[in-house]
Parts: sequence; C-alpha cells; structure tokens
Amino acid sequence: MANQCPISSQFVVFIIITYFMFILGELIRPLPRPLPNDILSLHIATRLRTDPNSIKLASSDYGNLVQENSIAVLYPSSIDDIVTLIKFANNCSTPLISISARGHGHSVRGQAMARDGVVVDMGALSENGIGIRVSSNRNPSSGYYYADVVSWTDYLYLTVGGTLSNAGISGQSFLHGPQISNVLELDVVTGKGDFITCSKNMNSELFLAVLGGLGQFGIITRARIILQKAPTRAKWVRLLYSDFSIFTRDQEHLISTNIPSYVEGSLITHMSPPNNWRSSFYSPSHYSKITSLLKSNNGHLYSIEVVKYYDDQSADTIDEELQSLLKDLGFNPGFIFKKDVALIDFLGRVGNIDNQNSEGQLETHPWLNLFVPKSRILDFNAGVFLDIIARHNQTSGPILFYPFNRNKWDDRMSAVIPDEDIFYTLGLLHSSRPDQSGNFDKLNNEIIEFCEKAGIKIKQYLPHYKSKKDWMKHYGPKWNTFQETKTKYDPKMILSPGQRIFNSVDSSDI
Ligand SMILES: Cc1cc2nc3c(=O)[nH]c(=O)nc-3n(C[C@H](O)[C@H](O)[C@H](O)COP(=O)(O)OP(=O)(O)OC[C@H]3O[C@@H](n4cnc5c(N)ncnc54)[C@H](O)[C@@H]3O)c2cc1C
Repeated sequence: MANQCPISSQFVVFIIITYFMFILGELIRPLPRPLPNDILSLHIATRLRTDPNSIKLASSDYGNLVQENSIAVLYPSSIDDIVTLIKFANNCSTPLISISARGHGHSVRGQAMARDGVVVDMGALSENGIGIRVSSNRNPSSGYYYADVVSWTDYLYLTVGGTLSNAGISGQSFLHGPQISNVLELDVVTGKGDFITCSKNMNSELFLAVLGGLGQFGIITRARIILQKAPTRAKWVRLLYSDFSIFTRDQEHLISTNIPSYVEGSLITHMSPPNNWRSSFYSPSHYSKITSLLKSNNGHLYSIEVVKYYDDQSADTIDEELQSLLKDLGFNPGFIFKKDVALIDFLGRVGNIDNQNSEGQLETHPWLNLFVPKSRILDFNAGVFLDIIARHNQTSGPILFYPFNRNKWDDRMSAVIPDEDIFYTLGLLHSSRPDQSGNFDKLNNEIIEFCEKAGIKIKQYLPHYKSKKDWMKHYGPKWNTFQETKTKYDPKMILSPGQRIFNSVDSSDI
C-alpha cells in the first residue's frame, strides 16, 4: 500500500512538520505588551478595546503586507477622549506608548499602525455624531462656502484626515490643487495633547506642517474644506495614443487651458488592460478594437481621460465646447470614446473596493506612487514603461500617469513634490496574490533604482522608506523644518510610528 501511495505518506510528514513549525512559531512569537494599569483608571477605559477583532483590524491595512499589533484600540466618543489618551502617553513612565490615528486603513505599508501602542479609530467620532457640518454661509475671510468634516466617507472610501496627511490627489488637482490646498481651517490635537485650531493666519506653523505631514504633528479632528456648487452631469471622454510624446503634450495642453473639469492619463498593456477595478468604461466591441491596436503597438498604449462637468444652464453649449477642446488633439484617429453620465455616477465609478481575489483569498497591494518632474518624462517612459514594466510582464492593476501644475500646491506645507512647474504622478496600483508580492517589490525597486541612476529626481507619494537617511533625502531642504516642528509638537515621538520616520529606524543609518 505504502508503495502505491508515496505522495500521501510524504504529505502526512509535511503536515506534521508544518504543525510543529506552527506551534513553535506561536511559542516564540513575542507576547503583546500589556496595557499599562493606570490607563484603566482613565475615563476613556471603557472605550479602549483589546479584543482580538479590534486588534486584528487595527493591525492590518489595505496593503496587506505589514502587520503590527497594537495593544488596544480607542473608539473615541469625543475629541476630549483623544486629548486624554495623548496626555496619558506623554506622562507615561517608560516605555512610552505610541499612538496612531486610523482613518480607514487604506495605507499600503502599515502607516496607520502602532506596534505595542494604541490605535485611534477616527470613524468612531462620526458614529458619535461628530460628522459633516455643511455651512450655508460663506467663510467671512475667504468668501468660500465650506463644510466642517471629521471623516468623509465619499466614493473613494478614504477619510479626510488620512488624505490630508498625504495630500489628496486626483484628476481635478491640476485645476483646484490637491485636497490640502483646499483647507481653510483645522482642529488638531498635537502630540503633546494640546487642542489647537489653526489656519494660514492662525497658528500657521502647525497648519502648514499637518497638511501632508503624515500624521506626525497631531491628530486632525476637524477640517474646514472649500465647497463648490456641483454641476449635475459629466461628459466623460477617453482618447487613445500610440505615441508617448503626443500623449503627454496633449495632457499638458489640457491642463493649461483650465477648461476641463478633470484630466487623468494611464498606460494600457496586456497586463494592465483598458477596463479595470477603477472603472469599467468600454463596451465589448470597443474593448476588442482597443486590444487589436494594443497588439499592433507592441503591447502598450496611452490613454487620456478628460471630463467636463455641466448642468442645465450649459447643456446647449457643452458639445460645442468639448469639440473645440478636443479638436487639435493628436489621439489615434477613431480612438475617441464618449459617455454622458450623471455626475454622481462619474464620481462613484470606483465604487467600494473589494479586497478579495476570485479565490476568496486576501490580496496584497504593493503599490508604488511617484511624482516625476516633467523635464524627464521621455527618459521615464523609455526606462520604466517601455523597458522595466514591459520586461516584468506581470499581471498588474491600473497604471496611472498624469500631470499637475505646481502653482496649485503650497510648498510651505509638508507634502513633498518635484521642483518643476509641471510634474506627473505615476500610480502603480498593483494587486497580487500574497506569494507574488515580492515580485512587485522587485519591480518597484528597479524603477526607483533606475530613476536614481538616471538622475531623475522623483519623489514618492504615500512615501515608504526604511531608513532615516532616505527620509532626509525625501524631504531635502524641508527636513530641518520637519524635524524641528516634530520636536515642538510631538517631542516624545508618540504619533504615527507606522510611517517609520522617527520611530523604528536604525539611526546608525544616517
Ligand atoms: C482604493 C484606494 C484608492 C485611493 N485613491 C486615492 C486618490 O485618488 N488620491 C489620493 O490622494 N490617495 C488615494 N489613495 C491613498 C489614500 O490617500 C491613502 O491611503 C491615505 O492614507 C488615506 O487613507 P485613510 O483615510 O484610510 O488613512 P489611513 O491609512 O488610516 O491613515 C494614513 C496616515 O494618516 C494618519 N491619519 C489618519 N487619520 C488621521 C487624522 N485624522 N489626523 C492625523 N493623521 C491621520 C495615519 O496615522 C496614517 O499615518 C487611495 C487608496 C486606496 C486604497
């Protein structure tokens, strides 16, 4: 019998070894730090949870690449709960506990986690009635209509606090700037536990530091954001290009006119097809037409997505306006695709994200997001799109590539961008099986190394570095201010340790 079934005996041995490895792993895994006793005497004790579900959620994120166990999760019912926790951490005898605000955990490298610390679930504030307050009056100083928001579960299912900690970019940023450029005022609980209202005119140092500040200086508990009247409909157009220089020339022309409401661009390959989770735009017949063009163009195409919003007042003239906008563009003849949709459907095109692959397995998302200076995009195309990405030939997610105007950003804020009037963003939004994520890390590293060798001064968006030296390089001339502001508002380095800027970094690396 044994001779007839050699695989099953090997299989049994394999199971036994795996079982013992698992037990061994469990035995040597460091135990989580216990919750300091005195925290339980605070009034927030009943809102601190240590149950496995709460810990598991706070120890994972969209990337599914990093796991850092916190010791507790705070579900604040008021801003005072957050103040109490941060003050407690400041007065805690060593070792200190760290604290991380968590929006929706849409980070991909553990940025909202706090190993052996406390994660603050910001969504709990809105559940406790501290939600969006839209004002029907104009802001006296700026003249804008505004909304006061804590967490804004919009179509992207991101939070305002989380996006303001990075920048908040989209196809509308060429016109309105990133989300951080549209903030009038913030309430922040600093790393010392001080509650401070700030704006460009009031406590401006903190205001500018927090915007794009990766959660390092304080927890945003309210943001006053500029609102505009929303039109009702959108003319949604996609244009396909075989030629990279015409594709980028046209994108730059579009963003210089200020006429479109939205401009994005992307790379299409066999591995990153025209329809994907960000939107399913093409009909089957259009899809096969594009696939034929893709084959005849060596497996790569470029696509511009341009959208113009309109409403009843502009309905009679919108087609003419769109035609005049597109008439001089150099897309491949016949490769223009149009839709006319309700604005709400355009905004909701991504829908909710599904974190499961078809086999029901949790996917990983080893994303890479970069800003690339305009002066080097031809080299970037040759080295990254036509060489590295083509060579790796891995099934990937969407590959975004579209430009911004630097004058819509405020360089005094913490967000870091290239030093050129126009720069592009690259979004490599990979999804992969967990056992394949290493291949995407290799691909990402190859791109970064290529840019370094070629002297292309990229900056990472949603940055992720392992050494302090890399962080200093990332911030460049802003580093000293960033560090000094950290010392002023979070001297004990309590906040957002998952970013690994001031915590968990080998200082011998400097
Ligand atoms: C499907 C998807 C689509 C995306 N699309 C875009 C896009 O179009 N444009 C774009 O710019 N980004 C986009 N992102 C990236 C997104 O901006 C980041 O993931 C960002 O971190 C927001 O996610 P979050 O709100 O869940 O924050 P989290 O991941 O929970 O937190 C991110 C960081 O901010 C800190 N933080 C969170 N809340 C606060 C707060 N209230 N105060 C201070 N610090 C805080 C955390 O400690 C952490 O360091 C996308 C991400 C996903 C997963």
